[in-house]
Parts: sequence; structure tokens; C-alpha cells
Amino acid sequence: MNIAEVISIGDEITIGQILDTNSQWLSRRLTELGIRVMYHTTVGDDVAAMLDVFHKAASRADLILMTGGLGPTADDLTRMVIAEMRGVPLVQDDELLQTIRNRFASRGLVMPASNAIQASMPEGSVAIPNLNGTAPGIDMTFSVGDREVRLCALPGVPAEMREMWNATLAERIARHYAKGQVIKSRSIHTFGRGESQVEQMLPNLIVRGHDPRVGITADSAVITLTIVAERESDAACDLAIDPVAALIYEKLGDLVFGEGADTLPGVVLTELRRRNETLATVEFGTGGLLSHDLAHESALVPGNPVCYHGGLANLPDNTLCQLLAVTVQNQGENGRQFVSDIAVAARRFFGTDHLLVVGQYPPLPATDAAPQVQLAHAHANGVDTQSFQYAGHPALIDQLFVKRAANMLRLALMQ
Ligand code: ATP
Ligand code: MG
Repeated sequence: MNIAEVISIGDEITIGQILDTNSQWLSRRLTELGIRVMYHTTVGDDVAAMLDVFHKAASRADLILMTGGLGPTADDLTRMVIAEMRGVPLVQDDELLQTIRNRFASRGLVMPASNAIQASMPEGSVAIPNLNGTAPGIDMTFSVGDREVRLCALPGVPAEMREMWNATLAERIARHYAKGQVIKSRSIHTFGRGESQVEQMLPNLIVRGHDPRVGITADSAVITLTIVAERESDAACDLAIDPVAALIYEKLGDLVFGEGADTLPGVVLTELRRRNETLATVEFGTGGLLSHDLAHESALVPGNPVCYHGGLANLPDNTLCQLLAVTVQNQGENGRQFVSDIAVAARRFFGTDHLLVVGQYPPLPATDAAPQVQLAHAHANGVDTQSFQYAGHPALIDQLFVKRAANMLRLALMQ
């Protein structure tokens, strides 16, 4: 199996100013291609340190993907250090230079002299076109002893880096390592169980050597199974993947909420749209994040009938009760009666088919051993409530409750 190393370059990362999301994104893409990412390295903008890191990577990885330091300024050292590492000159590519000039001209600008350096490529490398920026990437293959090493350098700007991967590099890399074979993958998303629980429900599937490969990853409570097949044709890949996907659906049942780019709020809206039904929200704990995510997902499908009718967030109890014309006599256990009454009144207020409420988070520090947060779903036949323990990583808890609320509605719609 081929080993990859992902290198992030830049002082902004090593001093902690920004988080290195490029390595995460690229590693996921490599994993989908069945390439084992063994190392992540981060290095500041320093020639000696970069040289050291590049040499080390070439000694232990078959594929080196790096991001950052391709810009035109004095602290952008990547192209120079690659040339130095290989002992080759930087050669100006006149065609590239013209492309960069044209890019500036198309914005009504004259190319600053410093940008000319971006048309210089280490001898023996090929460019990776960059449609959204000036700096092309660098793609070169060389040997280290009897091993072949491929090194690809991309800009640090995440949107440019991703576009270049998607448009050009993904296919080059897949072709290189698949030796002419086709690689296909399919990602199935689940919500409601932990990673190890999901894994236990799929015995003998997520094991080394399984063909097609099945990988499991967790991303803020969404557990994703990715099936990767390598075959001689597209159809042969599907033939290998489909029965495994069917088995996953069978074993995991309604834990599965979608595939690929699907999100929980997104699939809920798609289903509501299909039924021509509407939704509104009232939020306490999540402070408007559920509304944000639903509005964002709605905006992704322009022109469709609007099924998310908005929400109320962060209103004091008495203001909310006045607005909804409701008197709440009794909060109930952990506020259960309260969220239930609010859900019914707000559904009437908005005139929607469905209304979701995310209840108040417990006051901190929580005195209760297992503090609960209430969710309520009001619909044509009444109101359902569900309570969840207030626990989880503080940075992710809002996202978690947004997903729980969306999932509560999703499961109700499935019945
Ligand atoms: P430019 O041509 O814009 O200078 P570059 O290749 O030189 O591109 P950098 O200057 O290293 O790239 O980074 C540009 C910006 O991209 C940074 O300010 C940062 O916001 C973002 N960035 C760089 N590296 C990463 C990374 N590893 N993860 C996330 N964002 C990054
Ligand atoms: Mg830069």
C-alpha cells in the first residue's frame, strides 16, 4: 500500500494563528482513494526547516502533498526549497507567465513584477492549473533509491487548493496509484450512535483486507462509512460497492440519514419539500444555530418552495409567551411541559405543519448529575417531546443539539 505524507507550510499555522484544515481535507481525499496517510507535518516559513522536512518526507513516503508558501512574497519559499532539495534550477515557463499576466489583465490590473516568480517551476516538474488564483501548483516525480516518490505542492488558500485537487490532481493521483484501474467510493452517513457502536453493528466489514475497503470516520457526531472499490471499470466498482452498501443499510436501518454531501437539516428539508410541508423553529439552547443551518440548506436549493418558515431564538420566556399568546402554568419536569406548550403555540403562530423546539440548556455549573435538555416536535396530530442528557464536547454541543432536533423530525417523518 502506498504511504502518503501531508505537509502544511506557514508560520500562521506553527504560531497557532490559524488551524490547519488543509491537511484534514486532503487526508480525507487520499483516504477515499485508498492511499494510507501516515504522516502529517507542519513547518514554518524557514528554508532550513522546510528542506529538512521535505527530505524526511521523501525518505519515508511515496506521495507527498504539501500546501502553502506558493505566493509571490519573500516568505513564500516552497518552490525554491523544492528546487533546492532536488538540486535543480527554477525555470521560468513563458506560457505560465502569460497565463498569470492575463489573469491580472482580466481584472484590469498590471501584474506586479514579484508575481513573475510564480511562473518559475523546478526543472522536471509540471504545473497544476489554478483557476481561482495566480500560483499554479507543482507536480513532480523523482526517485529516492529504488523508490518512486511523487511530490505535489498546492497553494495554502483552502478554496484554491480544493478546486485544484478536484479539477486536476485527484484524477492524476488516482490514475498514478491505481495503475490504470478505476477507483470509486461511496459515503454513507449515520446519526444517533457512537463510532464503536456502529462498528459493532457491522461485524467483519470494517476490517483490514476487506475488499472493497470500508472505512469509518466520525465528524461531530455523524458517523460515516466510506466504501472504496478499485476495479477495472466503473461498472465493476459499482458491482463491488452496491451489495456492501445494501448490507450497511440493512444492518443500520434508520440510523442512516444520507450519503455524500447530505446533511441532517438538508435531508429533513428535502423530505418536507417532497411532501409539500412546512417547518418553523423556536430555540433556547442552540441560540439560533438550528435556524441558521436550515436557512443555509434552504438557500442551497434556490427556486424551490420555501419549506423553512423561520424561527425565534433567544427570547426571554415572558416575551415569547406574550408573542405566542400562551400562558404557561407549569414548566414540568426539566421544563418538558414548557417546551411542549411552546411548540404547540408556536406552530399555531407560524402556521406551519411542523414546529421544532430546542429547550433551555441547564444553568452551569449543573447541579443535577444528569442535566437534561428537552426537544419538542409539534405536528398535525399533537406534540412529541424527547430529552437528551446535556453532555458532550462544549465546542460541539450546539451542533449536536441541532442534529438531534433535525434527526427527531427526520425519524418522525419516516414513520
Ligand atoms: P498566496 O498566493 O495567497 O500567498 P500561498 O500558497 O502562499 O498562497 P499561504 O500564504 O501559505 O499560501 O496561505 C494563504 C492563506 O491560506 C493563509 O493566510 C491561510 O488563511 C490559508 N491557509 C494556508 N495554509 C492553510 C492550511 N494548512 N489550512 C487552512 N488554511 C490555510
Ligand atoms: Mg502566501
